[in-house]
Amino acid sequence: MSSTQHFDIVFTGTGLSGLSTAIALLDQPELEHLSIALVDRDDKNKNDRTWCFWAQPDELRQMPPVVFRSWPHFQFHSPVHSEQLNTRGYTYNMVRGLDFYTWAKQTLAKYPNVVWINDTVQSVDETSGTVHLSDRSITGSWVLNSALTPFSVVPNYRKDDFVPPFSTNAAQPPAQTVHLLQHFKGWIIRTPKPVFEPDSVTFMDFRVEQGDDTRFVYVLPFSTTEALVEFTLFSPELLSGGAYVEALHDYIRTFLKIDHYDIVEEEFGIIPMSDYTFPNHTEGSRVIHIGTAGGFVKASSGYAFKRTQRRARAFAANWARHGRPDPSVMRSHWRYPAYDAVLLRVLNDKLLPAHQVFGYFFKNQGAYNVFRFLDEDTNFLQDLRAMSAVPIWPFVKGAFRFLWSKWRS
Ligand SMILES: Cc1cc2nc3c(=O)[nH]c(=O)nc-3n(C[C@H](O)[C@H](O)[C@H](O)COP(=O)(O)OP(=O)(O)OC[C@H]3O[C@@H](n4cnc5c(N)ncnc54)[C@H](O)[C@@H]3O)c2cc1C
Repeated sequence: MSSTQHFDIVFTGTGLSGLSTAIALLDQPELEHLSIALVDRDDKNKNDRTWCFWAQPDELRQMPPVVFRSWPHFQFHSPVHSEQLNTRGYTYNMVRGLDFYTWAKQTLAKYPNVVWINDTVQSVDETSGTVHLSDRSITGSWVLNSALTPFSVVPNYRKDDFVPPFSTNAAQPPAQTVHLLQHFKGWIIRTPKPVFEPDSVTFMDFRVEQGDDTRFVYVLPFSTTEALVEFTLFSPELLSGGAYVEALHDYIRTFLKIDHYDIVEEEFGIIPMSDYTFPNHTEGSRVIHIGTAGGFVKASSGYAFKRTQRRARAFAANWARHGRPDPSVMRSHWRYPAYDAVLLRVLNDKLLPAHQVFGYFFKNQGAYNVFRFLDEDTNFLQDLRAMSAVPIWPFVKGAFRFLWSKWRS
């Protein structure tokens, strides 16, 4: 008779949030003895994405020590206004997925109480903490899940080459929610002549044809002759394959004024931007959802890297202090999801184009205040000040539509 193996914690999914949370927990002397199973169907040996985030120097020191590039200067362009953002110390930083996975594996290898299981999670029983794998089951006193979401967070697009394999569940997002996709195609290009300024990123260039949605380009230079150029959209649907390529070629020719270049690498990604409140825990359940599944992705921006590090550390410190996990420390204060939801309504319902929203924010508030607001590091008065940067009526309308949808759901 085979007995079911039991662990203090089973991580279903060992991407960004799983690995970050496992390391944060084991870093606490009170928790370093916990038996942990790390389950993923992927062996995390590929550079499957890059993560960027803005950070102050003290924040950067607390990030995983695998930052590949940091840029001190940010350029912003819209059809009506361009500026070098005054970030007052914020740098823009890039971590390559593979560097992070390699570092995480090396860090976790120091713990004999950590077991890796390369398998696909079929389902999880919330009450017993049983994780059903391909041909066996294991149990956890707690299951920290980033593999399965309540619905497919990228509806209708579940092809493996497009979508992070988020869900085994084909359900659609609940009605009454705004569910945009942030989708992007990026090329690392190499030019024969020096053309890029290596210490300056183009952080949102909205001069590209806007179509019926939000479109902009990032340019992240690695040297004078090499840069990642990324065409990004916020919209409910993906474009057909050729449209990304056309837009990239066009941007490189028209705005970067580069005629000859080689494409060294390419990436494609989709991040959900949803006003659905992903519940990270329900009473009586042994499952705590983390990462995208736990609502870590900021709905109005699609950023999650820095939030994940912060939440993982706060959760671990709290668990060590109180002797039990408290999922509530990984949630935003209620007012931030409400702001995000209103901004999503404004964009989704085309009440104000994104280039104007961000243009007004940066021009009237300054990048430093905008980054603090997006990082949820502000108090209510500072929130009001940040919101005073944009025209009021589109946002009042957006707020009413959001409240109406909540009332109807
Ligand atoms: C291409 C891309 C680029 C991004 N860039 C940025 C960025 O620049 N800045 C930023 O802040 N955020 C970015 N994000 C958003 C966010 O930070 C990432 O999606 C982040 O990886 C989310 O972390 P996670 O742990 O929820 O998911 P993941 O890192 O995707 O981890 C989920 C894990 O679950 C595993 N899994 C899924 N299903 C199963 C199953 N059934 N059984 C076993 N294992 C399973 C997967 O293999 C994966 O390892 C990006 C997202 C993508 C897709």
